[in-house]
Amino acid sequence: MADKPKIGFIGLGIMGRPMTKHLLNAGYEVVVHDINRDAVKEIVDAGAEEANACAEVAEKSDLIITMVPDSPDVQAAALGEGGIIEGVREGATYVDMSTIAPSVSVEVGEEMAKKGVKCLDGPVSGGDVGAQNAALSIMVGGDEESYEFVRPIFEVMGNPVLCGPLGSGQIVKACNQVLVAVTIAGVSEAITLGAKAGVDPINIVKVLGGGLARCGILENRGERMVNGDFDPGFRIRLHYKDLNIIMKTGNDYQVPLPVTSVVHELFNTAMVKDRSELDHSGLLTVIEDMAGIQARTKS
Ligand code: NAD
Repeated sequence: MADKPKIGFIGLGIMGRPMTKHLLNAGYEVVVHDINRDAVKEIVDAGAEEANACAEVAEKSDLIITMVPDSPDVQAAALGEGGIIEGVREGATYVDMSTIAPSVSVEVGEEMAKKGVKCLDGPVSGGDVGAQNAALSIMVGGDEESYEFVRPIFEVMGNPVLCGPLGSGQIVKACNQVLVAVTIAGVSEAITLGAKAGVDPINIVKVLGGGLARCGILENRGERMVNGDFDPGFRIRLHYKDLNIIMKTGNDYQVPLPVTSVVHELFNTAMVKDRSELDHSGLLTVIEDMAGIQARTKS
C-alpha cells in the first residue's frame, strides 16, 4: 500500500458526492461507482477514477466505503452479484456509512470476515450541509485497530467517535434519528399553531431559536419551512426508512417508543400523500393539512 490507502467509494448521491470531493481534495486516490451515471461523471470530472461495478471498485481499493440508501442496497452492493465481496482483497477494510439496520451491518460484517476483510459501520449525521462542510458527526462501530486505520479518512469528512463493536454506529444513528424526527414534528406543530392563531411564523422561528426551544431543526430548517422551501436535503422517504429501522430496533430490544411511533405514522402519512421526495422538514405540510392552513411567512 502506498502512503495513503486507495479509497473505493460507492454511492454518489446527496451525501456521497461532497464526501468524495473532500477525499480527492485531501490527496487520496479515489475510485468510484454509482448506478446513476450522471453522478459518476461529476466525480470523475473532479479527479476520481471510474469503475463499472462494486467488485471492480473493491479490486482496486485498500478501503471501500458505501453510501447508499437502505439495507437492501448495502446487501446488494456488498454481497450481491458483482458486489464488493467478489473483488475485495484479503486484508482490505470495508466501511458502510449508509444508515441501515444494525443487524444488517453485523450480517455483512460476518460475511466479509470470512474473506479476511475488516468491517466498520460509520453512519453520519449533519445532513447535506454537514457533508458539504466536512462537518459530519460520524458514529463508528467496529474494532479499535480498524477504527484507527480509517480515522484519518473519517476526519477528512467530519468528526468520528468510536461507539462500540460493529453495529454500534447504527444503534447511535437510530437514537439520533429519533430525536431529529420528533423535533421536526414538534417544530411543525409549533409553527402551525402560531400561524393559525395569527402570528407570522417567521417570528416564531426567530424567537424560539433564541430560547430554551432552540434546536438544529429551527436553526437549519426553520426559515426554509416557513418559506415553503422543502428541497432536499434529507428526503422524507429516507427518514421514513430510518423510522422503520428504529421501530424494529425498539421491538428487538423491547424498548417501547410511544412518542416516536406517532411521528412514524406522521411520516407514513407524508409517504402516502406523495411527499417522499421532499426534505424531511416537509413533514410541516402534513401538520398544515390537519390544521387546514399553510403556515407561510408574509415577509
Ligand atoms: P441518495 O439517494 O441521494 O444517494 C444514494 C446513491 O446511491 C444514489 O446515487 C444511488 O444511485 C446510489 N446507489 C444505490 N444503490 C446502489 C448500488 N447497489 N450500487 C451503486 N450505487 C448505488 O441518498 P443520500 O441522501 O446521499 O443518503 C445516503 C445514505 O446516507 C442513506 O442511508 C441516508 O439515510 C444517509 N444519510 C443521509 C443524509 C442526508 O441529509 N441526505 C444525512 C445523514 C445520513
